[in-house]
Amino acid sequence: MAQAQKIRPRAQDFSEWYNDVIMQAELADYSPVRGCMVIRPWGYRIWELMQAALDAMFKATGHQNAYFPLFIPQSFFAKEAAHVEGFAKEAAIVTHTRLRATGKTGAAAIAVDPSSALEEPLVVRPTSETIIYAMYAKWIQSYRDLPLLLNQWANVVRWEMRTRLFLRTTEFLWQEGHTAHADEAGAEEEARRILGIYRRFAEEWMAMPVLTGAKTDSEKFAGAQRTYAIEALMQDNKALQAGTSHQLGQNFAKAFNVQYQTAAGDLAYVWNTSWGVTTRLIGGLIMTHSDDNGLICPPRLAPVQVVIVPIWKSDEEQQQVLNLGGRVQEELRAKGLRVELDARDTMKPGAKYFEWEARGVPVRLEIGPRDVAAGQAMLARRTGGKAPARLEGIAGTVQAALEEMQGALLDAARKRREAHSLRGAGKEQVLEFLRGAGGFAYAGFCGDAVCEAAIKQATSATVRVLPDPEFRSAEAPKTCLWCGKPSVVEAVWAQAY
Ligand SMILES: [Zn+2]
Repeated sequence: MAQAQKIRPRAQDFSEWYNDVIMQAELADYSPVRGCMVIRPWGYRIWELMQAALDAMFKATGHQNAYFPLFIPQSFFAKEAAHVEGFAKEAAIVTHTRLRATGKTGAAAIAVDPSSALEEPLVVRPTSETIIYAMYAKWIQSYRDLPLLLNQWANVVRWEMRTRLFLRTTEFLWQEGHTAHADEAGAEEEARRILGIYRRFAEEWMAMPVLTGAKTDSEKFAGAQRTYAIEALMQDNKALQAGTSHQLGQNFAKAFNVQYQTAAGDLAYVWNTSWGVTTRLIGGLIMTHSDDNGLICPPRLAPVQVVIVPIWKSDEEQQQVLNLGGRVQEELRAKGLRVELDARDTMKPGAKYFEWEARGVPVRLEIGPRDVAAGQAMLARRTGGKAPARLEGIAGTVQAALEEMQGALLDAARKRREAHSLRGAGKEQVLEFLRGAGGFAYAGFCGDAVCEAAIKQATSATVRVLPDPEFRSAEAPKTCLWCGKPSVVEAVWAQAY
C-alpha cells in the first residue's frame, strides 16, 4: 500500500491530490525556471495523441499547418488596442542580443552587453494574431485567395506569477488556428465549426463533457468580436475553459490592412477567426477522471492501453508466462493497441499493479501459471472490476473493454456535472452554491456588465458561458440573478481555473 499512499486523497486537498497524481504518473515536473514546467514522456505522449486526433480533424475540414516566428516586433502589438491591453501585463520582451564576459567570477562572470540593445524590442509570442495577419496582408490579394485556413502547433509565453502544472505556466504548448474569410458569415461559420471540433474532441477522445456557448463581453478574447468556448466541470466543481474559438470581425484586418479585391472589383477587409487549445487539456483530463490511486486516462488517449503483468514463482513458470505474455502482446499490437509487457523481475506483481494504476493504464492483463493452463488471463480495469478472459479472441475482448470504458467515463463525468448543476434557483441559493460546494449555476442575466462584476465580487465566480440552446434550461429564467430586471440571456456561472 505504500505507493498508493503517496497520493493524497481528493477529499483532503484537491490541489495537492492533483499535483501528486501528476508526479506519480510522471506526467510533468517543475523546472529550474520559475513558472515553467517540464512535460515528461508520459505526459508528452498524451499530448502527441491529442495532437494527432485534433490535427486530423483540422485537416479534414480544410486547414493546413504552417509555422510563424516566435518573436513579434513590439510595434505590432500596438496596432490593435484591445489586443495590446489584453496581453501587455504578461509579456516577455527581448531587448538585447548578446552577453559578454565581465572578468568577474561566479554568476557575475557574464552580463548583458549593453551595446547589443535591439532598436525595436521583440515580444515572445503570447499568441500570433499580429504576426500572422501581417503576413496575410501580403498573401491575400483577391477573393480567390479566400478562405485562408491555417493552423500552427507551437509554444507561447504568457508571464505567470503562479504556477499550476498544465493549467497555468509561463510557457505552454498549443495550436492556434488563424483564418481569413470574405465575409462575416464565413468567419462566423468557421468559429462555430471549430467549436464543434473542440467539443467532439473533448467528448469523444477525452471523455470530458463540455458546455458550448459564447463568452460575455468582459470574458471574451482581447480583440475579438465574439468568443466561443467549451467549458468542462472538474471533480472539485470548478470550471475549466478547455478551448476557445474567436470571431475577430475585421479588427485585425483593419489594423494590418488585410484587404482583398471582391468579385465585383471593390476592395474589402477580410474577416478573421482564431482558435486554440493548449496543454491545459491534459490538466482537464486528469481532473475529470482520476481517483485517489492516480491517473485514469481515457483509453483513446492512453500512452499504454494495456499492460500485461506476468506472474511466476519458479524459473519454469517464468518462461511459460513470459512466452504467453509475449504472444498476447503481439496479438493485441497487431490490432493497433498500445501494449506493454512488464517483464521486470526486480518487482513484485502487486507493486507493478500500483505503478500502472498510478499511470492510468486502462486495462491490465495478469497472466499466471494457472491461467496458462486454463487458457485465460485476468482482465482488470483501471476503473474497477476484474474477471477472467479467454485467451482465444483476447484482442476482441480487450477492445470491447476499452470502448466500454471510454463510454462509461464520459457518462460518469456527464452525470457528475449534471448532479452539480443548479437551475431555477433564487438569488441567495445561487450565491451560496457558488461560494460553497460549487458547480455550474444556470441563471438569468440582464446583459449588464455591472451585474456580472457584482456577482463576481460577491462570489469570485464568473460567467463561464452563455450556453448554446441545447444546454439551456427547459424554462428560460425570467429575471437577472443580480438586479431582478428582465433576463435577456441565460448564463452559466462557476468558479473557474
Ligand atoms: Zn442584472
